[in-house]
Amino acid sequence: MNEMDAVEYERADSDSSPICPCCLEIVESDEVLFCPKCGAPIDPVASMLPFEQILAEGYVWRRAGDSPRSWVVLVGIWLLMLPGVLLGLVILFGERSAWTGNLEGAGWSETVFLLIYGAVSALLVVKVTRNFLKRAGKSASDSANPA
Ligand SMILES: [Zn+2]
Repeated sequence: MNEMDAVEYERADSDSSPICPCCLEIVESDEVLFCPKCGAPIDPVASMLPFEQILAEGYVWRRAGDSPRSWVVLVGIWLLMLPGVLLGLVILFGERSAWTGNLEGAGWSETVFLLIYGAVSALLVVKVTRNFLKRAGKSASDSANPA
């Protein structure tokens, strides 16, 4: 621990301000539920209140998409999003006349909604997979060249 770390640690300990568990940012106000820097929930109450629960879940999804740290996150995203991707592919490449004949009341608005749902699912799968592979390659090169 160098001198700056000791000063920061002392400052954080003396004013007892909450510290973000994700980015270690010192939050100046006690009344803030989320970190102003990274958006992580700071207070445990943040994931229980109705509106704040939406923000907390959004943080989890953003974090899974931006920096998947484990292959479990990658597999979880694939399992959650694969039905949407397959549904979009069926809508896109399936036999349209048979599809519209089998589903009563499915018009263009349902088709457009399912296409958008499939496209968003596919984009999320691609983004998470790309970020996971980028992160895995980066950590492999970091462990090969420890500097
Ligand atoms: Zn933070």
